Amino acid sequence: MAARGGSNIKDLDRSLVYSAEDLWSKALDRGGIVNFFGSTFTLPQQRVFGDLSAMQRTVDFWMQAKPLQLQFPNLAPLVVRGRQGERKAHYEPDGVIAIPLDQSWACRESVLAHEFAHHCSWNPDAPAHGPAFRHALVAVAECALGVEAALLLRAAYDGAGLEVTHAS
Ligand SMILES: [Zn+2]
Repeated sequence: MAARGGSNIKDLDRSLVYSAEDLWSKALDRGGIVNFFGSTFTLPQQRVFGDLSAMQRTVDFWMQAKPLQLQFPNLAPLVVRGRQGERKAHYEPDGVIAIPLDQSWACRESVLAHEFAHHCSWNPDAPAHGPAFRHALVAVAECALGVEAALLLRAAYDGAGLEVTHAS
C-alpha cells in the first residue's frame, strides 16, 4: 500500500484508490458471475498465498510476462519479504515488496498486484497512486487475473472518478 521514498509530491488520490481497490478485491474474493452494465461475465477468484515463496514465484512470473515486459521494459529485480509487526504491505523503490504475513488479507493476489504496480510505475516525481500507477495496475491485473478482472478494476476507478492514463 504505502510506498516508502523521499518524494515531496502529494499523493492526493490515495484513499480513493484504496477504497476502489477494496471493492475490486472483495469481488475477486467471491469470483463467479458478475453483471456489468447489462452484460454478464465470469470473474476469477483471486488466489490467497500460503507463503513468501509462492508470492516470489508469482512476482517472478509477472516479470517474465510478455505484455508487461513490453509496457514496462527493464524492470529491476524484485524481492518479496515478510514484514513483522506492521498492518500494511508496502513497496520500497529499491525493489522490495514487504508483506505482513500474519495478516491474511495481505497475502492476496490483489495486494501483491498493487505492490507490483508500484514497481512498474515508480517515479519519484509523480504521485505514488496517480494515473500512471493506476494504468500499471490495470495492466498487471489483466496479466495476472484476466481481462474481466482488469475491466472491473477500471470500472471501480471510473466509479470513484479516478482517471487512468495510457502512457506511464
Ligand atoms: Zn500503494
